[in-house]
Amino acid sequence: MSNMRTAIYPGSFDPVTLGHLDIIRRASVMFDRLIVAVMHNQNKKPMFSVEERMEFLRRTTVELSNVEIASFGGLLADYARQQDACAVVKGLRAVSDFEYEFQMALANRKLNPQLDTVLLMTSAEYMYLSSSVVKDIAVHGGSVAGFVPDRIMQDIVRRTRKEG
Ligand code: ADP
Repeated sequence: MSNMRTAIYPGSFDPVTLGHLDIIRRASVMFDRLIVAVMHNQNKKPMFSVEERMEFLRRTTVELSNVEIASFGGLLADYARQQDACAVVKGLRAVSDFEYEFQMALANRKLNPQLDTVLLMTSAEYMYLSSSVVKDIAVHGGSVAGFVPDRIMQDIVRRTRKEG
């Protein structure tokens, strides 16, 4: 097609955190086009629907003109081929993330030899941050300020009040 370099950043984003947003910002300057892709078929029961998670992502990345929000099911290697992507972006928070990501990266490259994996190290201030930490805090009535983008804070508070 073109020589545009497209990368995919896949995840559950349930919901998007400042740690995710940091990876999105950093990856968006490395590639011509970055697709942030919400995965379907998660085993864990999500708090937000795929559509809600996509809407949160869209709201928090409007200023980033080369970032697109999408969703996919099935194999990442196939989705990457469809999107003409040359790379998958993942974030690493700790050494414990590494083993899993290493295995996935090798499997994905076997399935799609055009696809490389780029692992971005977390920014130190977000090392502890995951969507599950955010959900735990919110469910127990704590403040998620400084954990998630301001633009989605109210939506999280509203949802956890309804459920709690
Ligand atoms: P999580 O519930 O752990 O946030 P996701 O599936 O939504 O899970 O994460 C998507 C990707 O973002 C994964 O590659 C994960 O390692 C990365 N990621 C999540 N949080 C951070 C963070 N705080 N810093 C760096 N990378 C992160």
